[in-house]
Amino acid sequence: MLPVVVVHGGAGQIPKQRTEQSTLGVCTAVRAAYTILRGGGSSMDAVVEAVTQMEDNPSFNAGHGSVLNAKGGVEMDAIVMEGKTLGSGAVSAVRNIANPVQLARLVMDKTSHACLTAEGASQFARAMGVPEVPEESLITEYSRMRWTKNLAPEANPVECQMGKMGTVGAVAVDSEGNIACATSTGGMLNKMEGRVGDTPCIGSGGYADNNVGAVSTTGHGEAIMKVTLARLILFHMEQGHSVEAASDLGLAYMKSRVAALGGVVTVDPRGHWAARFSSRQMSWAAAQKDTLHYGLYTGEHFTQSIDHPH
Ligand code: ASP
Repeated sequence: MLPVVVVHGGAGQIPKQRTEQSTLGVCTAVRAAYTILRGGGSSMDAVVEAVTQMEDNPSFNAGHGSVLNAKGGVEMDAIVMEGKTLGSGAVSAVRNIANPVQLARLVMDKTSHACLTAEGASQFARAMGVPEVPEESLITEYSRMRWTKNLAPEANPVECQMGKMGTVGAVAVDSEGNIACATSTGGMLNKMEGRVGDTPCIGSGGYADNNVGAVSTTGHGEAIMKVTLARLILFHMEQGHSVEAASDLGLAYMKSRVAALGGVVTVDPRGHWAARFSSRQMSWAAAQKDTLHYGLYTGEHFTQSIDHPH
């Protein structure tokens, strides 16, 4: 069953004209990650590669294509975690870098801390030689249009975002049985400056433990944090539930307890995997045994050979 990688491109409802790009984006990211795994690479390298590709893809709310905060700026959150040592790294409210997931990995690898925020994260990025990029290069016409639309006093940005999400994440198990997760986001549309969501919070935006499995989440961050969604799902797996049942239990609890929708990708140490969501849609893709799996609507599940030309 090993290796395996599963990615998501955000839970919500994707506007019709963007569904194709979103599906293509998750499939391309999962192929790149699977190539690493098939070559004997680590699950951490695989999830960082998948998330980097989606950060670079303007179809998703992460890196280039991030939503804007109330002041029209881009502040991004990201996390990585590896299941062997339970080591993790995160950045929150970071600006002017193309790939927050890579900075999160540097926090894990090069510091004794688990999370760096805002200006301190930028200083660390500079010290590590991560190039600074102009804010403009992270902003798309689409994200600016949605920002302007939600400045109106009667606007409801949370509802609007539940309409169109795009946070990205990945979980993987490599051929040595090591498990990893990564999640990256621009956050919630028109959020207050300085707002930090679930994504960089360990156990909420993601969690990985070689003994249990890994989860990467997407949805309304304030709700995900209330139920620590990633860790809640792993708790259900510890109780003997399958990846699929545990994911559904976690999402159902979030829906009944705090009235929020979301989505997750989940793996266990044997390579069982799931992509589950309570929102209308979540673009997702998985690769295992040289087969590519993908879908967008509830119950949708397409497969093709991973080597099939796309
Ligand atoms: N969870 C992200 C946040 O609240 C948003 C999302 O998943 O789309 O920052």
